[in-house]
Amino acid sequence: RSKMEGRGTWRFFEPAMDANLQKRRSLELDLREAMSRDEFALFYQPLYDLDQDRICGFEALLRWHHPKRGLVPPDQFIPITEEIGLITPLGEWVLNRACEQAALWPSEMKIAVNVSATQFRDQGLVEVVSGALAASKLSPHRLELEITESVFLENSSETIATLHKLKAQGVRIALDDFGTGYSSLSYLRSFPFDKLKIDKSFVRDATATHGSKSIVRAVINLGRSLGMTTIAEGVETIEQLNHMKAEGCNEAQGFLFSRPVPVTEVASTILALRNGFKKKGFKNAMAS
Ligand code: C2E
Ligand code: MG
Ligand code: MG
Ligand code: MG
Repeated sequence: RSKMEGRGTWRFFEPAMDANLQKRRSLELDLREAMSRDEFALFYQPLYDLDQDRICGFEALLRWHHPKRGLVPPDQFIPITEEIGLITPLGEWVLNRACEQAALWPSEMKIAVNVSATQFRDQGLVEVVSGALAASKLSPHRLELEITESVFLENSSETIATLHKLKAQGVRIALDDFGTGYSSLSYLRSFPFDKLKIDKSFVRDATATHGSKSIVRAVINLGRSLGMTTIAEGVETIEQLNHMKAEGCNEAQGFLFSRPVPVTEVASTILALRNGFKKKGFKNAMAS
């Protein structure tokens, strides 16, 4: 009898599960075709150097133009590509495309590329990176790979070895979404990262709540004392920007400067931000 009730309960949830499962299956099928149909694109969001007061590069952000669903955000399809083994070819496409584009930009512009944990564990990553650099002739120090703390969840000795191989090529390594992962600070000791990206959840609250403010200050000081650059992501207001600058954060990124733009708008974005960020009120706010 209790088994029957159990089944009844299961059946009650079935339609909802079916809908989710069906959406997932359909996305999965579409993803398998998306590459050959050329439905992926990279958008680029400026990285702004607060010390020098000028644009210093872009982060490449993947977009999927689905023929029927429209724009599907990366958080909705990247986990699926990881599960079905598509992240390897897709990640290779991203790296090649991003390096090829960045090689056409002024030489002081870096390009930051996200590498997911699954992609990072892939045996071929080091070769894919060196291949993308060779094909594009992009100088390795202009390429910054963004990984998250989740790469350290498994096999951290292999992770460290891969990081050293990448670094030996001259590529920079940034820790993305810093502070949101399973933060055991021990890995900061085991590898010399070039950059810490302060997660946007801390940036958003840094001007409002004492806790976030303290965390932001601690991360910036931690980065400084370890010789790592710090960047604040998700900067949306002048107040947040001024706060990060006053705390000594080196770089900033966020909708305040620019949303991620298609490749056709990269040149105009560079021009707009090259000689300082001139949004109304910014200079005055900076001076005060
Ligand atoms: P992320 O690497 O932390 O990228 C930052 C995300 O914050 C981007 O979302 C960006 O559009 C968004 N963002 C930037 N400025 C602001 C702001 O001022 N306010 C707010 N609210 N958001 C802001 P997006 O493009 O949807 O990407 C989400 C995540 O998907 C990325 O987080 C990254 O983890 C992943 N992703 C994106 N492109 C790639 C890729 O090519 N490969 C891999 N493996 N992952 C990618
Ligand atoms: Mg990122
Ligand atoms: Mg991030
Ligand atoms: Mg993120």
